Amino acid sequence: MISVKDGQNQILARITRPTPPEIVSLGAARGRVLAEDLRAPFDVPPTDNSAVDGYAVASADVPAAGSRDLDVVADLPAGSVFAGALAPGQAVRIMTGAPLPCGAETVYPQEAVERLDGRIRVGPIPKGANTRMRGEDIQANTVVMERGTALRPQEIGLIASLGQCQVLVHRRPRVVLLSTGDEVVEPGSPRRPGQIYDANRFTLAAAIVESGGEAIDLGIVADRRDELRARLLEASALGELVVTSGGVSVGVYDFVKEVLDEIGAIDFWQVAMQPGRPLAFGRIGPAHFFGLPGNPVASMLAYMLFVRPALGKLAGRRQLFPETWEARATEPMSKKKGRREFKRGVLRWRNGGWEVRTTGPQGSGILSSMVAGNCLIVLEEERGDVTAGETVLVEPF
Ligand code: AMP
Ligand code: MG
Repeated sequence: MISVKDGQNQILARITRPTPPEIVSLGAARGRVLAEDLRAPFDVPPTDNSAVDGYAVASADVPAAGSRDLDVVADLPAGSVFAGALAPGQAVRIMTGAPLPCGAETVYPQEAVERLDGRIRVGPIPKGANTRMRGEDIQANTVVMERGTALRPQEIGLIASLGQCQVLVHRRPRVVLLSTGDEVVEPGSPRRPGQIYDANRFTLAAAIVESGGEAIDLGIVADRRDELRARLLEASALGELVVTSGGVSVGVYDFVKEVLDEIGAIDFWQVAMQPGRPLAFGRIGPAHFFGLPGNPVASMLAYMLFVRPALGKLAGRRQLFPETWEARATEPMSKKKGRREFKRGVLRWRNGGWEVRTTGPQGSGILSSMVAGNCLIVLEEERGDVTAGETVLVEPF
């Protein structure tokens, strides 16, 4: 038996190099991982500018008490710049984001002034009010995003605001998928008694895309030695990772092992976890091989725990593991000491705190428990049964 952490460490230790960098357009950058530090070529915002629609004035013209009338000498729409400098007693009508005219340091919101004919009447206001300073968001030459950052919409927007239309990212890791099992059939085709539709390949393909990989689908392979060998060899030439599901529990165990021993190298692990105890990890030629359990919850969980961090490391990501949170269990949960258990939970904000319950039956074949849930409840090795009211770790998904 090895622990989840040991398994993860052994896997990550074997992934030594990320995929090579490539340039992509911002439109194709979502979910990709930066392959270089990104520096700001200029200050953001590039000039002092107005934070509101209103009137820009010199601070010297702001009355300490009472009111003062100022001449409105120009009307600045967004995108235009006031060429001259403000003289004493003058104001410029300005739009949000427009650069402050030379000599103006304070902006009155338009609703704060009384508009007279060609003039405005203003009262006291803090000097410098309603302005945004050059460089207050980002200063020129500073690193705004480190390599290893996965790009979300906001990162992509920030890159665009720096004037870039392309970005250097790691190539998406290629993950080749195979389902094994004589009983497993393709959705959309007829099913005979004793057969089940392939769920795992579809769960895994979607999960791979969600974690920034490219899924390459090699379909279903029957429980036949020669066929498995041929498909695995083919798979190993197509991607950095080869992922199969099924055939790693006792029975077929030796059979997959035989093939892998012949064409690569493999370890069969009993991981101290529930669900999903058996896991095979090794190499076929240049590719890393993961043999996930066949039960749909176990295979998805093993993906999340072992394949996703490996894929993340290959993709150059800095953060390989999701954050965990704490919540109060609202029901008792059975737990065996000595292994890490992952229950599917429903996490909600109630009575000023996070509460979590299980989704109900927790069998490793019950994929609907993943559908009903919004988090994993992570019960650590040393922990025994959980009583209602205890604090537990949760990992939202
Ligand atoms: P195995 O590890 O091959 O013994 O499979 C364990 C269980 O998972 C069996 O009930 C299989 O029928 C089921 N199973 C295996 N592969 C899949 C799959 N691709 N989709 C859904 N269930 C599967
Ligand atoms: Mg099987």
